[in-house]
Amino acid sequence: MAQVAVIGGGPGGVSCAIWLKRLGLEPVLYERGHIGGQLHDISLPIPDLPGEPLITARELIERLKHHLKTWEIPVFEGQEVIAYRDDQILVLKSGQEVYYPHIAYAPGLRIRELDIPGREWITQQSTSEILNMNTDLPILIVGGGDRAFEAAIRLAQAKRPVILIHRRDHFRARPDFQAKVQQLHIPIYVHTHLQSIESVPGALIAHVEQNGHDLSFPVSVVMVRIGMEPDIQPGLCPLPISDVVPLWPRAHVRCLGDAVSPVPFRSIVSAYASGMMAAKELVMNLRHHA
Ligand SMILES: Cc1cc2nc3c(=O)[nH]c(=O)nc-3n(C[C@H](O)[C@H](O)[C@H](O)COP(=O)(O)OP(=O)(O)OC[C@H]3O[C@@H](n4cnc5c(N)ncnc54)[C@H](O)[C@@H]3O)c2cc1C
Repeated sequence: MAQVAVIGGGPGGVSCAIWLKRLGLEPVLYERGHIGGQLHDISLPIPDLPGEPLITARELIERLKHHLKTWEIPVFEGQEVIAYRDDQILVLKSGQEVYYPHIAYAPGLRIRELDIPGREWITQQSTSEILNMNTDLPILIVGGGDRAFEAAIRLAQAKRPVILIHRRDHFRARPDFQAKVQQLHIPIYVHTHLQSIESVPGALIAHVEQNGHDLSFPVSVVMVRIGMEPDIQPGLCPLPISDVVPLWPRAHVRCLGDAVSPVPFRSIVSAYASGMMAAKELVMNLRHHA
């Protein structure tokens, strides 16, 4: 039975592993953090998963873990894969090397970064971690999409002072998020660009530019939520991204999930479907070449 390494334990990787097992292969799942992927960032109930009205992300993660257990799929959490060599050896950050004839690669997305002076002061912490901080100074959030608005709502609901800044005057965030931000009276600065961040005793100073005028805000935390980009590592999957859905037996690697989905289609159901398609493609190709 062919062994397949599934890299990434988000909805796409979990779905692929379950389908591979169901189709008679032996998947082994590697996740550098914890099973769930982006589900760990979802704090509001999920409104659009068919058959699961308003399931919480936490509950969904527990169900995914349980499902993997039911199928007896080996799962290695805290294991980052750093390369897949031409000799079909998978290399882990821990130094371990394992032979796998096939790789299902579901790395998801990473937060897009801002290249500005003082960028080292931009927090890498999640909203949950920031909620545990004790501060009277505002939290500055940069961005106009769901992630920026969701963070702002959650922090404001917990009575934390929040300022949102966005480079445009229209937002990509869901309409209900936009309505909630208004209802919570969260100040929004539009046409505003974060220029630099300075650290002074007890505060960060965020220097911004709005329509040609310079403004400065003393803040406790700067969160940048300006979008996500595929987290594809060149050592694991050939770039460019437009070419990264190769057929299995030719390239031995199949990329799936959000990392190769067009932006509007990135979702839990599309990641599930992508995992299923990758698994079925492999089985069909293995049969074809048997
Ligand atoms: C705030 C927020 C709200 C959302 N709300 C919804 C919603 O309401 N409905 C909906 O359908 N979708 C929603 N989504 C989107 C949904 O979560 C994603 O579409 C889905 O998680 C994508 O699954 P994935 O498996 O492709 O990637 P991910 O969930 O990103 O998982 C990828 C995993 O791969 C791991 N990984 C990456 N590289 C390596 C490596 N080299 N070695 C080991 N592990 C690696 C990562 O650690 C990660 O755990 C939301 C997302 C966010 C951030």
